[in-house]
Amino acid sequence: MEDIRLVGAGWKNVSLVDVVDSVTFTLWLCGCNLRCPFCHNWKLAVNNPERCRLLDIERLLDELNAAKMLVDYLHVTGGEPLVQWYELGRLLRLVKNNIGGRTSVNTNLTLYSPLSRLLKEGLVDHIATDLKLPPEVMYGHDSETASKLWSLYERGLMLVADYGVPLELRIPITKFSKPALVAEYLVKIQPYLSKIGKLIVVVQPLLGEPVTTPRDPEWCKLFCNPDNGLLDGVAETVTKLGFRVRVKKWLSS
Ligand code: SF4
Repeated sequence: MEDIRLVGAGWKNVSLVDVVDSVTFTLWLCGCNLRCPFCHNWKLAVNNPERCRLLDIERLLDELNAAKMLVDYLHVTGGEPLVQWYELGRLLRLVKNNIGGRTSVNTNLTLYSPLSRLLKEGLVDHIATDLKLPPEVMYGHDSETASKLWSLYERGLMLVADYGVPLELRIPITKFSKPALVAEYLVKIQPYLSKIGKLIVVVQPLLGEPVTTPRDPEWCKLFCNPDNGLLDGVAETVTKLGFRVRVKKWLSS
């Protein structure tokens, strides 16, 4: 057994909620380069030792092997999985060579070179990413850094398009996500999205307390938990732009 050193919070052998219309074996890795104020997995993002540990890869592979007939993807999320891209690449290679099946990575798409290496080697079959709008509010960095990260995000989308990888584009909706704002950004990235054969846009509420425990509860009091009417308005706009859309609603609204 190769000595693969990945730090993560664990895995779920069968999940119905992590990739649209798919069953996944979901693995949570630790570490992240963003500081999104709403992040509900922030303990993973900051490598909190209460949640993060060196994973038992042998056990992980045994359990994945046992579950492989039931799942569509090994889905790797976090945190930001590409922070540990080298060891992740070793894991995905091992899975591809010894277990088989498709792989999916949930990434913030701002780590261009790591993604490029994994895609070039054919190790990733599906990408999920958030479209966080506007980046200077949502990334948790100053405006200049957020603007650089946004450029990397656009390059990441270009890469996904170039490799023809199916994409699940999730739009987390805040109380201030007006349909016009979402449309403005979708038009900006339309040149990349139009080249992606298999694309679904997921409109979903950004949830705060009491459903999640966000990194910055005060920020979330202001921005999180939009009402369902806003989700419908955004979904209508996205549909009019020609995208296939799925809306995930907040049940208690
Ligand atoms: S929401 Fe995602 S990208 Fe943002 S800090 Fe959390 S794990 Fe990182």
